[in-house]
Amino acid sequence: MKINLATPLAEINGIGPRFLNKFKKLNIETVKDLLWHFPVRYEDFSQIYKIAELIPRQEVTIQGIIKEIGGRRSWSRRFYIIEAIISDDSGSVRAIWFNQPYLKKILRPGQLASFSGKVSIAEDGEIYLSNPTYELLKSKNKETTHTGRIVPIYPETKGLTSKGIRYFIKSILKELPEIPEIIPLEILKKENLPSINKAIFAIHFPKDIEEALNAKRRFTFEDLFLLQLHNVIERLKLNQQKAVAIKIDVEEVKKLIKKLPFELTFSQKKSLWEILKDLEKNQPMNRLLQGDVGSGKTIIAAIAATQVARSFSSKNQNNYQVAFMAPTEILARQHYQTFKKFFGNEEQSIALLTSSETKVFYGHNLETKLKKKTLQKEISEGKIKIVIGTHALIQKEIKFSNLVFVIIDEQHRFGVEQRAKLIKQEKENKKNIPHFLSMSATPIPRTLSLTLYGDLDLSLITELPKNRKPIITKVIAPENRQKAYAFIRQQIEKGRQAFVICPRIETKEIDDQKLTKKQIQKLEIKNVTEEYEKLSKEIFPDLKIAMLHGKMSPKEKEKIMNDFIQRKIDILVSTSVVEVGVDVPNATIMMIENADRFGLAQLYQFRGRVGRGEHQSFCFLFTESSSTKTHQRLKSIIEAKNGLELAEKDLKIRGPGEFLGQAQTGMPDLAMKALQNPNLVKAARQSAYELIQKDPFLKNYPLLKERLSQFKKDVHLE
Ligand code: ADP
Ligand code: MG
Repeated sequence: MKINLATPLAEINGIGPRFLNKFKKLNIETVKDLLWHFPVRYEDFSQIYKIAELIPRQEVTIQGIIKEIGGRRSWSRRFYIIEAIISDDSGSVRAIWFNQPYLKKILRPGQLASFSGKVSIAEDGEIYLSNPTYELLKSKNKETTHTGRIVPIYPETKGLTSKGIRYFIKSILKELPEIPEIIPLEILKKENLPSINKAIFAIHFPKDIEEALNAKRRFTFEDLFLLQLHNVIERLKLNQQKAVAIKIDVEEVKKLIKKLPFELTFSQKKSLWEILKDLEKNQPMNRLLQGDVGSGKTIIAAIAATQVARSFSSKNQNNYQVAFMAPTEILARQHYQTFKKFFGNEEQSIALLTSSETKVFYGHNLETKLKKKTLQKEISEGKIKIVIGTHALIQKEIKFSNLVFVIIDEQHRFGVEQRAKLIKQEKENKKNIPHFLSMSATPIPRTLSLTLYGDLDLSLITELPKNRKPIITKVIAPENRQKAYAFIRQQIEKGRQAFVICPRIETKEIDDQKLTKKQIQKLEIKNVTEEYEKLSKEIFPDLKIAMLHGKMSPKEKEKIMNDFIQRKIDILVSTSVVEVGVDVPNATIMMIENADRFGLAQLYQFRGRVGRGEHQSFCFLFTESSSTKTHQRLKSIIEAKNGLELAEKDLKIRGPGEFLGQAQTGMPDLAMKALQNPNLVKAARQSAYELIQKDPFLKNYPLLKERLSQFKKDVHLE
């Protein structure tokens, strides 16, 4: 039978239902899946030793004749032990296996076989092989698969060991015709990468470790290259789109900034400038504004929005419109207030549109509640210039008359989906698409953002406004817990409020027990409930305490946040996954349980929730750990200049696994690879860019084109 990469494993000889099921557990269903099931590591059994030369505790391979083999129960009767004597022309040695009685049938006296494993040493000084891997040899110089070479170790599942996986991969590789190459040859050459056929063999059965690493490098490059191709193509497509070029009146912007009750920070000004420059182009802006919590992103977006809303289209009597989307109703309302406060005297028509509230502000204290239908009509007639809202903004019924600028605040994946939706709606009958600005407080190291969001331009706000009082930050050891509680009580008695963040589930725990997202959530809810009970029953029975977690509906969450804002709650206990991204100036205490389980950048973000108001704020990092290293790590938050700096530091200290794992974002493998290998990301980016310049539609690379569209589906880029 002819096989190819798409052949289902069910059609492969020798893979029966029993194995099919086990492969399925590993998400392997086709030949391709199996060949792309890469080793997690290798064992180096390539050195073949003479039996007389064996050294204790070394990984070795020996080849010899099986002289004797037999089985017995161990003295405790817990194990069944197989024992064999193997000899070559230099001597003989004992090998033992536990609980594998069938070996007696496979390894028969007189046969030539190869054994790889660790040399053990018994109490009496005798050397023996314990549980070695074995394979029978038909002749002396026969090529081996499981011994006498660099041996791949795979992710396994019960009943399907690396040995089994290896066996199937080897036999498939023997029958498989050449795999078509998708990476252009000149790129392979330039990057010094092996061809696909060499690489797929070498990643499973390398001659030496170097060959294995090279093969791995090729596959990593391939993924990064595809991702970068996607980015470059998207970017190109966007550059070919038209957007409305906005005339910016610099003098007017300066006047507006002067009227603000505070001075903009340097990077706020710089970011604003970058955004305004983009708006002046007739190509759509595609920019991410990244800055810590409280760094003042809203005002920057708002100034840009007013410039768009005030300019007039000469051809079209309608004003330009701006949509500003926030993740929650509270945030939408807060943004609406910001607009009213800062630009309320200028004539504007600013609407708030959420599922529970629809109103319009016309300037000069004129504010009206409107029915949703009426507001929709006003929007579609172009009477409203700035619409601030939640997801309600992208519902079908909302039709803008001339949407020119879209701002998306704190969305997952930076609003890529929302942008796509809005663009689609706008494109239906127009040739222009809106400018697009997203905002995020999530610090993402540069390599990672280049990999995942390479089609976005980036503006960074790197400092906090000057008027912020430094937050007093303390690492609290268990013996000081009571003191900290007493202090918190004092603050609350003075009228302040507190956040309590519950410990996250440890990455190790998640990996070891292979917890699913659901199970993690469940555990987190358990944590938050326990903390809530403890605080409300034992520690602060007289105070008003509420809890917040991911299983609650958006409505419930909004209600609790609102109660907190209105001071109906003293202490808000929350899981780490719940976004508490609202300004609550009266909250001055951030208390974090098991702080050492969090990434520095994340802790820093939590801390940013306080310190917004006139009162001194405090951040308490509780830890049970007594290690100085942990304490030092936690203390580095005190000196940090911004979240981005901490994210990069965190990445260095804890490595990509922890860094990404803690966010529990389900980031693809790719992100991981990128973080470990910035140079490869750069190379992939460069190659993708050059290729697309030469051949924008990949006309001469049909296989690559096809693979790219499959890839986009696989990693959900569409
Ligand atoms: P974030 O970047 O987290 O969205 P906000 O835009 O909500 O931050 O700003 C937080 C607070 O800081 C707001 O009350 C805002 O008015 C205020 N603010 C913004 N810029 C400055 C500044 N340069 N100086 C002082 N306060 C500022
Ligand atoms: Mg914000």
